Amino acid sequence: MGLKIQKNNIYGWLASTTNNVVSSVIASALFAILFSKLFEYSDAEFSRKSLCIIIGASFILLSLILFFLIRYFSNKKFIPIKAIVFDFDGTLSKIKRVGITSPWELIWLKLGYKIADCKKLYTKFYDGKITHKRWCRLTYQKFKSKKLTEKHLEEVSKDFELLANVKEVLEQLKERGVRLYLVSGSIMHLIKYIWNDELDYYFDRYEANVFRFKNNELVEIKGTDYDFKGKAVFIKEIFKHLQLKSPKEILFIGNSDNDEYARKSGARTLCLNGALTNPYNKNAWDDTYKTDDFIELMAYIEKKYLIK
Ligand SMILES: [Mg+2]
Repeated sequence: MGLKIQKNNIYGWLASTTNNVVSSVIASALFAILFSKLFEYSDAEFSRKSLCIIIGASFILLSLILFFLIRYFSNKKFIPIKAIVFDFDGTLSKIKRVGITSPWELIWLKLGYKIADCKKLYTKFYDGKITHKRWCRLTYQKFKSKKLTEKHLEEVSKDFELLANVKEVLEQLKERGVRLYLVSGSIMHLIKYIWNDELDYYFDRYEANVFRFKNNELVEIKGTDYDFKGKAVFIKEIFKHLQLKSPKEILFIGNSDNDEYARKSGARTLCLNGALTNPYNKNAWDDTYKTDDFIELMAYIEKKYLIK
């Protein structure tokens, strides 16, 4: 597969700074002892001996100052990433069909509706005219009247694909002890089909809208509490659950307007292939990057962030 994750960079070096500084202190101490011994056997005057000790002591002091300075700045600027929270649509996966912007549109189309029908209802919710719960209820009625089945959802899932090398990179992150999470405004059935039912292996926790079926008949669309503002709530829960020191130890990666709220959790946010959002809006995004290949994304993350 040729998967390579770059490990040697300036942040990696900073991470191992403790070792470097400890070696430096020991070297300085040895230097001071050897130098003073050298003068003991020479004709040097006492004052020169004292000077030598002062030089040695200065070396140790300098090393200590460096140690604390580097530690201060590395903690401040290069807080290690201990967890990554991913959005799903447009972040881990993409829709193969041109002109479609959400999985909801695909389901409406599948059932014989028009994209405009989906957009009309969604806009009502988006503009605050109806709640998310109400939007789910009205969507449910539309889907139920067309007898939506799980088979329909399985067919719709074929219009998605994961970005290149997603699983390989997540595997590597897992091996390095990074906790992985998924928080999506998509539909759990679709995510499970697209992910080949391996969600439990890759993610510590995942959230999305849930379609409930009974005897293959849709009985409820249970809206997720973790979309839009809920994305920040989700990240705060992860922060508490992992007992982290700072929310900055969490990196959120998303792509759209519903992800903009994630920043309110205090997590660092990376906009990947931004759509329906301004990736340069600093109130929403700390950073932005474009790629369809997770190996490239990972190389970028390695350069910009310190992975624990
Ligand atoms: Mg998305």
